[in-house]
Amino acid sequence: RKRFRTEKVRTKGPIVCGSGMNLVFLGTEVAPWSKTGGLGDVHGGLPPAMAAFGHRVMTIAPRYDQYKDAWDTEVVIEVNVGDKIEMVRFFHCYKRGVDRVFVDHPWFLEKVWGKTKSKIYGPITGVDYQDNQLRFSALEAPRVLNLNSSKYFSGPYGEDVVFIANDWHTALLPCYLKSMYKDKGIYKSAKVAFCIHNIAYQGRFAFADFALLNLPNEFKGSFDFIDGYDKPVKGRKINWMKAGILQADKVMDAKPLLKEALQAEVGLPVDRNIPVIGFIGRLEEQKGSDILVAAIPQFIRENVQIIVLGTGKKTMEKQLEQLEILYPDKARGVAKFDVPLAHMITAGADFILVPSRFEPCGLIQLHAMRYGTVPIVASTGGLVDTVQEGFTGFQMGSFSVECDAVDPTDVSAVATSVGRALATYGTQALTEMIKNCMAQDLSWKGPAKKWEEVLLSLGVDGS
Ligand code: ADP
Repeated sequence: RKRFRTEKVRTKGPIVCGSGMNLVFLGTEVAPWSKTGGLGDVHGGLPPAMAAFGHRVMTIAPRYDQYKDAWDTEVVIEVNVGDKIEMVRFFHCYKRGVDRVFVDHPWFLEKVWGKTKSKIYGPITGVDYQDNQLRFSALEAPRVLNLNSSKYFSGPYGEDVVFIANDWHTALLPCYLKSMYKDKGIYKSAKVAFCIHNIAYQGRFAFADFALLNLPNEFKGSFDFIDGYDKPVKGRKINWMKAGILQADKVMDAKPLLKEALQAEVGLPVDRNIPVIGFIGRLEEQKGSDILVAAIPQFIRENVQIIVLGTGKKTMEKQLEQLEILYPDKARGVAKFDVPLAHMITAGADFILVPSRFEPCGLIQLHAMRYGTVPIVASTGGLVDTVQEGFTGFQMGSFSVECDAVDPTDVSAVATSVGRALATYGTQALTEMIKNCMAQDLSWKGPAKKWEEVLLSLGVDGS
C-alpha cells in the first residue's frame, strides 16, 4: 500500500480502478521506433499518458527494423493473402506502462531504406492492398497475445477493447472489424475511434480497387468519392479516410486535442475554439520577438491566445514574463529552452508567427507546416522561399533591419497579418492551407540531392 503511493509506482501503474479501459492504438509509426512526423510523436507519447490514468494500453505498429528492445513473443498467426498463406509474428516490449507490439513480416522490413525510414509509406498503389491483410492481422493481437507485462494486468486483452485507428492507413479497421469479426460474434462490444492527424493524405484509389479490399458490397457507399483531381486516376474513386470517418464509432481530430494539451500545459483557458498563435525562437533582434511583443496589444482583444517560447537577451526574457501578468487569459511567455514545449507549440498551435528581421533559412516554419500549423512570416530570406502567401501561409512584408528600434510600421504589419490569419479561422480557406502545408515534402531528400550535386561538382573521385 505504501509503495503504491510512491511517485515511481504511480506513474507506471494504474491510479484508477474500476473505470479502466483496454486501449489498443494502431498506426504506421510509433516514436521512437519509427517516426516521420506528428503521428509517430502522438503514438509514442499519448499511450503512456493514458496508461498513467490506469488504463491497459497497447500500441501496434509494423516492425520495420530489428528493434533491439523488442522480443519475439513466438506467437505466429497465419494470414491469407491472395491464394497464399503468410506467417505474421508479434514482437513485444513493455515501456512506460505500455505494451508496444510490433507486427513482423518481411514486407515491412523491406519497406525501410536505411536509417532514414523514408520508405515507411512506400510509394505505391497496389502494394497498399498487398499488405492490407497483414496490417489488419493486428486485430488479432488483443486476443492472441498472452501478456503479463505488469503486475496490474495479466493475460490477453481479450475482446472488450477500444481500438484507436490513426490516419488513412488504418482507416479500414472499423470495416474489417465489422465484416470479419463482429458479424461472427467476435469483438461484439469493441469500439473504434478514428483519429486524424493528417487529412492531406486520404488513401484515394481507383473505384474498381474496391474489389481488392475483400469487403462486402454494403461498404461500397462509405468509400465512394469524387473530387476534382485526376490523381491517382480520373473520375470516381474510393477514399479510405472517408470510410474510416463513416464507419468508426467516434472520429477524433488530433489538432484540437494537441491544442487543449498545450493550453493546459501553459495554464491558459482550455478551449479548442480559440485560435492559438505560437512563437518559438532565440530572443534577439534577428527573430523580431521585440516587434511581436510590441504588436500584441494591437491584436490581443481578438478571440486569440498567444504563447511565446524563447531564451536570449535578458530584457526580452523579462518582456515575455510580463505577458502573463498583462494578459492572464490570453498570453503566456516562457523564457526557457524547452524542447518538449517547443514540440507542443508546433503541434498544438493553429498559427506560428515568425517575425524575423532577417532569416537565412528558418526551421520553425518548416516544422510548423509539417504539423498543419500555418505560418505567418516576415518576407525575408528562407521565409519567402518556403511560405507561399495564401497557399501555405501569410506573408507580412519585410521588416526594417535596423535593430536599435522597433519600427511602428512593422508592428502594424504584424497586427494586420495576424488579423488576416484570424479571419480565416474556421473557414474552408484555412482548411485548404493546412492541407497544402502538410502535403509538402519538407524532408531532407530534396535538399540532400542539391548538396550532392554541389559536392560532386568539386570533382573529387571517391573510388
Ligand atoms: P536559428 O538557427 O536562427 O536559431 P531556426 O529557425 O533555424 O533558427 O532553428 C531554431 C531551432 O531551435 C528550432 O528547432 C526551434 O524549435 C529551436 N528552439 C529555439 N528556441 C527554443 C526554445 N526556447 N526551446 C526549445 N527549442 C527552441
